[in-house]
Amino acid sequence: QENKFQAIISHAKEYGFVFPSSEIYDGLSAVYDYGPNGSELKKNIRDYWWKSMTQLHDNIVGIDAAIFMHPTTWKASGHVDNFSDPMIDNKDSKKRYRVDHLIEAFADKLKEQGDEGEKKAGDLLAEMDQLLAKDDYAGLKQLIETNKISCGISGTCNWTEIRQFNLMFDTKLGSISEEADTIYLRPETAQGIFVNFLNVQKTARMKIPFGIAQTGKAFRNEIVARQFIFRMREFEQMEMQFFVRPGTQKEWYNFWKEERLKWHLSLGIAKEKYRFHDHAKLAHYADAALDIEYEFPFGFKEVEGIHSRTDFDLKNHQEYSKKKQQYFDNDLDENGKPYGNYIPYVVETSIGLDRMFLLILSEAYEEEMITKDDGTTDSRTVMHIPAKIAPTKLAILPLTKKDGLPEIATELMNDCKYSFKCFYEEKDAIGKRYRRQDAVGTPFCVTIDHQTKEDQTVTIRHRDSMLQERIPMSKVKEIVLAAIQ
Ligand code: ATP
Repeated sequence: QENKFQAIISHAKEYGFVFPSSEIYDGLSAVYDYGPNGSELKKNIRDYWWKSMTQLHDNIVGIDAAIFMHPTTWKASGHVDNFSDPMIDNKDSKKRYRVDHLIEAFADKLKEQGDEGEKKAGDLLAEMDQLLAKDDYAGLKQLIETNKISCGISGTCNWTEIRQFNLMFDTKLGSISEEADTIYLRPETAQGIFVNFLNVQKTARMKIPFGIAQTGKAFRNEIVARQFIFRMREFEQMEMQFFVRPGTQKEWYNFWKEERLKWHLSLGIAKEKYRFHDHAKLAHYADAALDIEYEFPFGFKEVEGIHSRTDFDLKNHQEYSKKKQQYFDNDLDENGKPYGNYIPYVVETSIGLDRMFLLILSEAYEEEMITKDDGTTDSRTVMHIPAKIAPTKLAILPLTKKDGLPEIATELMNDCKYSFKCFYEEKDAIGKRYRRQDAVGTPFCVTIDHQTKEDQTVTIRHRDSMLQERIPMSKVKEIVLAAIQ
C-alpha cells in the first residue's frame, strides 16, 4: 500500500496533477500546486459539491467571503484561545511534533509488524484518545516515553514538556508597527458564513432551516506535514453551515451525516471504503461531531467532518459585536404560539477539497494487467476517475495527420468543446495516445480514420473496459453528455 501511495504521488506529478510548490527552490513543505489536469479535476470536484449543495437543495445558498476578517472574529470564535494542538519538542534534534501525529506515526510502524503489532497499535491509539480527551499532558508524555517512541535519531529521546501551539498564521494589515494591525489568515471558512448570517438570511429571504455554502482557501500552521496533499498548510475547504431551530440539531446532524455519505457514494465509490468515526473529544464549539473516514492507501483517515456546533459561534459574535444575531421564527409551536426570536443552532458539513482530490486519486489509480488480442500480456496505468469529474471528457484523435482527417476531427472538436472539455492530438501511434488518456482518466477517446470520410462513423473507445465500437460521429456528443450528467 505504501508503494501504491508513492506511485500515486509520482503519477500525479508526471501527468500534471500536483507539483510541489516552488519546486525550483526545492519546494515548500506541505504546500502544493495543481497542474493542468489537477486544476481541472479540482474544479470539477468543487463544482460537483457546489451543485449538490446549492442547486439540489433549494434551502441552501452560497457565498464567497474574504480570507481576511476582522481580528475580533477569531477572538469570538475561540480560535485565538483554543485553536491549538499539543506539541512536544525533541531537545536534541530541535524538531517539533504534534503529539497525536507522533504517536500515530509510531502506531503505523507497529502495524507493519503483523497481527501482534496491529493489536499493540490499536491499544496505543485508544490510550492516546483517552488521554487527549482529558488533556492529560503528563500521561501523554509518559505514553511517549514508555513506548520509546523514536524521534528519528538513535538513542533515547530528550523531550520537552507538552504544551499548546496555536495553528493560525498571522500577518500585518497596513502599518507593520502596531499590535492592533495583526490579522489572521482564516483557519476555516466557516466564520465568513457566521458573520454574514443575517445579511444572507435577509437578502435571500431564507426561512429556518436553511444552509449557507462556501468553498475557499484556509490556512493552518500544521507542524508535522506528511502524506502529500492530505495535510497541507494552505488548503481549500468546502463547508456548509445549516441553521436550525434549537432542539432540532440532533435530527439535522443525523440527516447531514447520511446525506453526505450519499454524496460520496454517488461518485461510485464502494461503501466498504467508508466508515464513520465519532469524536471522543469534542472541539470547543461542538455538542456532537463525527468524521467520515475513507480508506486511503495509508489507512482509514478523515476526509470530512460533520459537527453540531450549537449556537456557540453566533452567540459569541453577538456578544463581541454587540449586534443581535437573532432570527424571528413565525412558525407555530405545539401550543399555537410563534417560536419567536432565537439564536439558531448550527450543523455543519466540512470537507477538504484537497483531501477529496487525494481520495479520488487513490480510488482511481490502477496498474492493470491486460491480455492483448494475440494472447500476450501487457500493463497499463489507468485512472478510473468518475466521468462527471474527469479533467478531460473526450480525446479526439485523427488516425493520421493527412488525408483530411485532422479537418474532420477539428469539426467534431468545435462541435463538442462548448459542452465539455475535449483534447485534440494527432501525434504518435494510436495505442500510445490511448495509454496517455488512460493515465489522465479521460473516459472516452474517439478515433477518426479513413472510413469516417466515407460513412461519417468513428471508433469510440471506453477507458475502463477498453471496448471499442463504431458509431455515427453525430452521436458522440450525446454519448459523452449522457455519461457526465
Ligand atoms: P485533522 O484532524 O486531520 O487535522 P480536523 O479535524 O482539524 O482535521 P476540521 O477542522 O474538521 O479538520 O476541517 C474539516 C476538513 O478540512 C477536514 O475533514 C479535512 O478534509 C480538511 N482539512 C483540515 N485540515 C487540513 C489540512 N491541513 N490539509 C488539508 N485538508 C485539511
